[in-house]
Amino acid sequence: MSKNNRIHAINSIAERLPDAPSAALPADSSMSSYGEDVFGEKEIRAFLPKATAAKLLATVNEGKPLDPSIADDVAHAMKDWALAKGATHFTHWFQPLTGGTAEKHDSFVEPRGTAQAVQAFSGKNLIGGEADASSFPSGGLRSTFEARGYTAWDPTSPAFIKRHANGATLCIPTAFCSYRGEALDSKTPLLRSVQALKKALRRLMAHFGQPDGRVSVTLGAEQEYFLVDRGFYMQRPDLLQTGRTVFGAAPAKHQQLEDHYYGAIRPRVLKFMTEVEDILWKLGIPAKTRHNEVAPAQFELAPVFEDLNLAVDHNMLVMEVLRQTAERHGFECLLHEKPFEGVNGSGKHCNWSIAYNGRNLLEPGSNPKENAIFLTVLSAVIRAVDKHSDLLRAMTAGAGNDHRLGANEAPPAIISIFLGDELSAVMKSIETGTSARAEGRTKLKIGVDTLPPLPRDTTDRNRTSPFAFTGNKFEFRAPGSSQNCAMNQMVLNTIVAESLDAVSDKLDAMDGDFNANLQKLLQRLIRAHKRVLFSGDGYSENWAKEAARRGLPNLPDTPSAIQPLRDPANQKVFAAYGVLTEGELASRYEIALEDYHRRIRIEGSVALDIARSMVRPVVADEFSKLATALSMAKKDGLKTGTSGLKALSVRLGAGLDDLHVKCERLDKALAKGGHEEQIAAMDDLRRTVDALEHLVDDARWPLPKYREMLFIY
Ligand code: ADP
Ligand code: MG
Repeated sequence: MSKNNRIHAINSIAERLPDAPSAALPADSSMSSYGEDVFGEKEIRAFLPKATAAKLLATVNEGKPLDPSIADDVAHAMKDWALAKGATHFTHWFQPLTGGTAEKHDSFVEPRGTAQAVQAFSGKNLIGGEADASSFPSGGLRSTFEARGYTAWDPTSPAFIKRHANGATLCIPTAFCSYRGEALDSKTPLLRSVQALKKALRRLMAHFGQPDGRVSVTLGAEQEYFLVDRGFYMQRPDLLQTGRTVFGAAPAKHQQLEDHYYGAIRPRVLKFMTEVEDILWKLGIPAKTRHNEVAPAQFELAPVFEDLNLAVDHNMLVMEVLRQTAERHGFECLLHEKPFEGVNGSGKHCNWSIAYNGRNLLEPGSNPKENAIFLTVLSAVIRAVDKHSDLLRAMTAGAGNDHRLGANEAPPAIISIFLGDELSAVMKSIETGTSARAEGRTKLKIGVDTLPPLPRDTTDRNRTSPFAFTGNKFEFRAPGSSQNCAMNQMVLNTIVAESLDAVSDKLDAMDGDFNANLQKLLQRLIRAHKRVLFSGDGYSENWAKEAARRGLPNLPDTPSAIQPLRDPANQKVFAAYGVLTEGELASRYEIALEDYHRRIRIEGSVALDIARSMVRPVVADEFSKLATALSMAKKDGLKTGTSGLKALSVRLGAGLDDLHVKCERLDKALAKGGHEEQIAAMDDLRRTVDALEHLVDDARWPLPKYREMLFIY
């Protein structure tokens, strides 16, 4: 038996037999357990007195302020429900600026007298909590002497149960802020941005005679991920520590044959997906679509869209459930944007729309008035993205996503909008005041005419566009697979709110015929912001040149992409809409920059460590064996074989020298600390190690190879 763990892992996967298909019904074929781990509307009604339930539901469903006097009742009901589910602990569950989620469990235990205890949970425990904030990133918001952080219940996202092998925990979604009330999380600004957008939209709708409607902002977040067998994962210190492979030679076959996308899902993966869905459904998360993605071993999970705040919480849970369930199935789920060089990376497409009284405003309407609203909102979004594309870009920055954006497989770092042929033609006709419509030469009169029918799913869906109109929603494709969508959605809401207000301001200032004014206004908007519209190939070099001519920002890496967060004009927008104070925005910049530098440094250190302690010994050993063999062959006067031995030892020796030089270079770069030098030195070292991978005896190569991780599972 081989001593190489890598070969051992291959053999154990080879021995594993897939399960035979089962004829049994799924555990919950009637969907009766959907949402059973959520303290939702049904549970609220079942566990609370009628009047209290009504009050709480008014907060949950209509956003009415929470009546604090019901907190004790609600806490009590939640506890009873959670205990019946096997919960022993509760936690405030929040999203600190690490990008992940955080929890600190407290048991329900309350001692009573000697050696006795009851289980208790008060309104105070429910509504607020104190957490030591000093070990969470605060980007300068929290002074070290003021370490306290506070969590505050978000009743609009329902409490839920997280199960583990020995019980369960009641999780209460919360916002997280400092002693002085500054947001230390991603949820607080998101909630503020939704408020701002709702207000701005109501103001605009008043112009259309509908002032008091119910606004909903929705998100459908498509989650891409990779699965690798844990037998391989455990032998890749780079995957373990950084989420991506810093070495790995390209395999002969990767995704050239385009045979993975939408391919038949392998039974072992399907078994994993089925369990993921079962857990998600119990959590009330509407997992809908599952399929193989473009790269080998890459997959996607898409839920049905939901209220934005809830959808963000749900996406955080989706990532967690994917990771934990993968472990149980002997997989590791990789959420990094670019785990493998040379194959597609993973994104998180954020599908966003706004509805008014239940009608999606990004859906072309069936009458002139609905269409006028549709075109106005659409134009406002175009204006917003054009004016603030730098902010959208900033919120997709990160060491991981830098490998993906613009890498000829994901949208470029230049933010532009794709509208599709039909809608582009409509916009053109508004802009020029002439009709592009087939029937007749009359011009499209906003508020009077109906739109020509726009096919919902146009076949020319442009996959290269970072921000695409897809029939009734915008799909923002730049966000990375590991990122919290709250950040980019917060920006989108804020800049659209600002644009809607700009439209309202203009309409307020205009006298005379409303429709004629609107027509003029939209014409001006499109003329001013059409430079952000682009239907062509976003991967082409010409587009980068053309975009530069149009003055669109092209910010290729994190340090440049986050600079707009320091722009006073941008600070003003966030402050004006009460989404982020100047200090809160500055803290996001500091955290993003620090996170970036730390990650690059960790990657560099891991690469150096692997190269020196795992790769070099194997190369050195093989080289010395060859050298010995060569000198023995010479001594014995052998005629054949020596030239081959010699050629190989020359190549290996050169590789060994090269490895030494590149390691020294990376070591120096790490000592100096500049990220550009570190990245360059890391890339350089990678070329050497990857070349050696092809040269060294396969049985001794210590790192699982791409052809194994991507194909053997
Ligand atoms: P594709 O991969 O072609 O983009 P998917 O069906 O995988 O399409 O994902 C589309 C996502 O968009 C789903 O999460 C879906 O629920 C969501 N979606 C559909 N309509 C809306 C809408 N009006 N607002 C927000 N998201 C939406
Ligand atoms: Mg999509």
